[in-house]
Amino acid sequence: MNRNQFLKTGLAAGIGAVLPLQKSFSPVIGRAKNIIFFSYDGFSWEDFSAAQHYSRRNFGKPLHIEKLFKTGSAGSMQSHSLTSMVTDSSAATTTWATGRKIVNGALSAYPDGEELTTILELAKAKGMATGVVSTTRVTHATPAGWIAKHVNRRAEEDIAEQFAQFKADVMIGGGIEAFDRNIRSDGKDLYKPFVDHGYDVVKDVSKLSSISSDKVLATLHESHIPFEIDRRFRGEEAPTLREMAMKGVEILDGSERGFVLHIESGRIDHANHRNDAGAAMWEILAADETLGALMEYVDKTPGTLLIMSSDHGTGGGSVYGVGERYRASSDIHDLISNRTASFPWIMVQLGENPSEKQVQEILYDATKTELNTRQVIMLQKAIAGEIDMPDQAAYPRQPIATLAYVLKGGTNDDPSHLNVNYGTTQHTAGAVPAALYGNGVETKPFGLIDNTDLFYWMTDALGIDFQNKEMSSEKALEFYSG
Ligand code: ZN
Ligand code: MG
Ligand code: ZN
Repeated sequence: MNRNQFLKTGLAAGIGAVLPLQKSFSPVIGRAKNIIFFSYDGFSWEDFSAAQHYSRRNFGKPLHIEKLFKTGSAGSMQSHSLTSMVTDSSAATTTWATGRKIVNGALSAYPDGEELTTILELAKAKGMATGVVSTTRVTHATPAGWIAKHVNRRAEEDIAEQFAQFKADVMIGGGIEAFDRNIRSDGKDLYKPFVDHGYDVVKDVSKLSSISSDKVLATLHESHIPFEIDRRFRGEEAPTLREMAMKGVEILDGSERGFVLHIESGRIDHANHRNDAGAAMWEILAADETLGALMEYVDKTPGTLLIMSSDHGTGGGSVYGVGERYRASSDIHDLISNRTASFPWIMVQLGENPSEKQVQEILYDATKTELNTRQVIMLQKAIAGEIDMPDQAAYPRQPIATLAYVLKGGTNDDPSHLNVNYGTTQHTAGAVPAALYGNGVETKPFGLIDNTDLFYWMTDALGIDFQNKEMSSEKALEFYSG
């Protein structure tokens, strides 16, 4: 058996075994006028618990997501893609947007280029307003999959052109680079089609609150919106997710035939890829603040269905037990409050050739961790491109992976290091949280669901009868065996 045959039979068998859950049932009994789909990218059940305890201990209050899971209908969602038990964000967002699994790396398209119809297209055809809001570039995978169709999620300049054709009512996030003629490789001005169609086009964070038009393209950063931890503690100029999301809701709220809005907390994933527990925590807390505001909106807006879901876990970060009877675990986890900058922010401060003293000072300032000489040398070498960490093949994202490694805790009896250990810098396969919350939309509890189910629950809620064409994993793999 050659490698391709092995991959084909191995993958097909592994994925086939969990397929029967698909389109199992619908917990949505009533009809919705509006749907708000709030996705957390790269958010695992372990992340849920870490943030839950952190909030209760440090702010004296439960998270809104706890209320959501206790009062809404909630469960776990399996996330595998068409040809892998581990999904990427583009395949995951496609299942939500189209009800079909595809191969990782594409957006609402099969490997032969055949395009799928998205929920935003279906909503638009019903005369509903549509929108996407994200802390990533608006053309990045998770928001893009609800609008664009492409075999390659990285083709964001093409994706921006598809945005210009589709013309959602609301697009708010980062991502100037895909629209700006001075940055695009073809020199096209992708803001122009929006200006020509009466959109408010905004690139300045301070203008966000004063947008008054009912159509908006707001790209508020050249690339992704800066991490919440850097906005909060380092003065990075950035909107909060709550500000962007509630502006989107405010604009769409006036839509006579209702709206479908996808909001994404897109950078929990980015922090977890870097094994950056501090940045991840603040992304989750910012998402939770947004969730609270959305639940409040739903409470006072009859007929609005809120769907919350993660697309997959990232990094495999887990909080481990510390001390006699694990009694020190929670105190040690509170050390996360010593983290006051993201790893990328720290790397920028370190520059290209930092001295031992600079490394120690910058790391102490940002994490309250005292590095020894051996750790400093490891980090200096990594910055110079000479990676010197055990099991380095497993940690391709350098030199940040070395930074994560030197900050990592040692043993379960070590009271000086944050007790979060990551298993990988990649996505993980585990089931993730999902929940429904609505006012005037009846729902019933659900247990283990498939990510494709959420599409059908949206179409059920909107009274749309539609299914996209299906492709088998065997067929999809044929495109990669040549
Ligand atoms: Zn993702
Ligand atoms: Mg994303
Ligand atoms: Zn990711």
